[in-house]
Amino acid sequence: MPDLAYLNGQIISIEEARVPIEDRGYQFGDAVYEFIESFDDHIFCLDEHLKRLQTSMELLDFPPVSISGLKDQVLNLFQRSEYPRAGCYLQISRGVEPRAHSYTNTVPPQVVMTIKDLSHVDTVVNTQGIRVRTCEDYRWGMCHAKTVQLLPAALEQHRARKAGLADTVFISREGHVLEGTCTNIFIIKDGTLITHPLDTHILPGITREVIINRICRKEAVAVEERPYHIREFYHADEAFLCSTVLKIQPVIEADGKNRPGPARTPDQKNPGFL
Ligand code: PLP
Repeated sequence: MPDLAYLNGQIISIEEARVPIEDRGYQFGDAVYEFIESFDDHIFCLDEHLKRLQTSMELLDFPPVSISGLKDQVLNLFQRSEYPRAGCYLQISRGVEPRAHSYTNTVPPQVVMTIKDLSHVDTVVNTQGIRVRTCEDYRWGMCHAKTVQLLPAALEQHRARKAGLADTVFISREGHVLEGTCTNIFIIKDGTLITHPLDTHILPGITREVIINRICRKEAVAVEERPYHIREFYHADEAFLCSTVLKIQPVIEADGKNRPGPARTPDQKNPGFL
């Protein structure tokens, strides 16, 4: 079965799928998206992804889109692909109308999806660790909406990769650690997981939510959702990035400062990134 596309109700091959050049997603970045994965024919956190999509649309003043209708279309696309392990990219733009900054909200939103085979993608957690750099956040003021306006994220991920690193972590003007280009970030200090609270500066990641409200709650691991300074990041016992695509990635170096990893014994304090 080839990879497929969904275009406003029709399932076609990806090569055939086209959007009009006056699509507002194309001209203004006026579109929201989700990326949803399946494992062994089980779609992971579909309702959570659709809820976030709805929130993103509400934040951008989109006309209403039926989430139950969308859910049926997503389920159908996964089924039609016949891939047990697949990734579905879902994008909704405000629609197609003559180019003008202001919109009418009278044209139908454009719904597009692609589904691709992920059977070749390793799901084993990377235990080697990754190296990251940081930069001051210069994205816009609504990072809690999942929009396709990803240019700063794309530029900063490219800069990281060019430097042989895995990612860039955005830091606020106040020096608070926010998130990666397409990941949330946690540090661990004295057995407590610490991560930036949900506000307009970060995306409410589904993986972040699963870690906090399912795994940590079940395992009785302490979590603090609070702003933390880059100094705390450098001196953390451990740190990791997380996302749907990357799962959990331990960070072993930040801004050229080496390290960390778990303390070897309970009494042996980890000195953090040195
Ligand atoms: N933060 C940003 C900016 C992202 O783009 C993403 C995912 O695309 C995440 C965090 C992680 O979110 P999720 O766990 O839902 O994949």
